Amino acid sequence: MERSYISHFRPEVDNISGYTPGEQPREAGIIKLNTNENPYPPSPGVSKEMASFDAARLRLYPDPLATAVRAEIAAMTGFSIDSIIAGNGSDDLLTIATRCFTDAVRPMACFDPTYSLYPTLAALQGAKCIQIPLTDDFEVPDDVLKQTEEANLFIIARPNSPTGNLFHKPQIEKICAEFHGIVLIDEAYVDFSRDNCLDFVRTYPNVIVMRTFSKSRSLAGLRFGYAIAHPKIIEGMIKMKDSYNVPMLTQKLALASLWDKAYFDTCIAKVKTDREVLILGLKELNFKVLPSEANFVFAAPPKNAKNYFLDLKRRNILVRYFPTARTCSYVRISVGSIEEISVLLKTTKEILSETGSNNSVGSYVTTGIGRSSER
Ligand SMILES: *Cc1c(COP(=O)(O)O)cnc(C)c1O
Repeated sequence: MERSYISHFRPEVDNISGYTPGEQPREAGIIKLNTNENPYPPSPGVSKEMASFDAARLRLYPDPLATAVRAEIAAMTGFSIDSIIAGNGSDDLLTIATRCFTDAVRPMACFDPTYSLYPTLAALQGAKCIQIPLTDDFEVPDDVLKQTEEANLFIIARPNSPTGNLFHKPQIEKICAEFHGIVLIDEAYVDFSRDNCLDFVRTYPNVIVMRTFSKSRSLAGLRFGYAIAHPKIIEGMIKMKDSYNVPMLTQKLALASLWDKAYFDTCIAKVKTDREVLILGLKELNFKVLPSEANFVFAAPPKNAKNYFLDLKRRNILVRYFPTARTCSYVRISVGSIEEISVLLKTTKEILSETGSNNSVGSYVTTGIGRSSER
């Protein structure tokens, strides 16, 4: 007779549901604005490198240290190569950092709301995660250092997700200077924003700045990210990583992307311009839109946010809805192409007018904008 299943997992694994990534549908005809991918293809140089790649070379292992890409990043940023680690996307580097700096007696800290992978990684590691509520306007609270006293790793997304705002730089510098553990600044969206925190790595030996090619370089499918920090931190993180964490083809194509600066600048400029079109269009439709320094906007529709999300989905437009207390009256919308933005706005207008004819207009226009109204 077959034996019944008994779990042998560590309780940390059994007791969490795991991180829920945004949907990745494969059907054609869907306008996908839910996971902040770039609407433009990667640099033509990337396609060229890929076409000329000889598959016979895949017989060999890749360079364990991704030396060529790291050297290029070093040249671009002015840091030494031993200050840089490459990852299989920045999620890989987040896992490495969690394993390096947290355990049952060394908690993680992060804000709420933020990228929800952080607390998931802490839970899997068996580490406590101290979640510090952002203020009503999603800014850093004044007593942040007091609240994070026990933590050994503080992960800060700047620009933050899903809110899109850029925490005040002096506040972040104060955290870097006074927090007694490691401050990891996740700059996944920094190329769309007006400044960055790379200079803190030069001043503070406890700061890690992390970036990804998934958003601004249109290479989410390639899986490449990197982190910059004091060489001692990088040395320790390299001990923790998988030996061959970055595939050969990824290294090669990441490098090709870095070579094409003009193309990169053009795409970024387009996204920033179209972001303003999206923000203005949503405001005209009575959305409350938070300021954005990223390639997405966080906006509260003038009706129930979950229903709006579902209405869009029925019409083949995917945005992201986060059903937590702080975020449930908003949706997060990636800045797509200008055509996608125009379809989104047109569809939204239709959805709102339908709701208006079914219900009395006043019931949602006047009450739907506040954060607490949709719970
Ligand atoms: C998208 C995202 C990442 C993950 O990037 P990958 O390099 O694709 O793993 C990390 N942090 C934040 C805040 C993100 O939004």
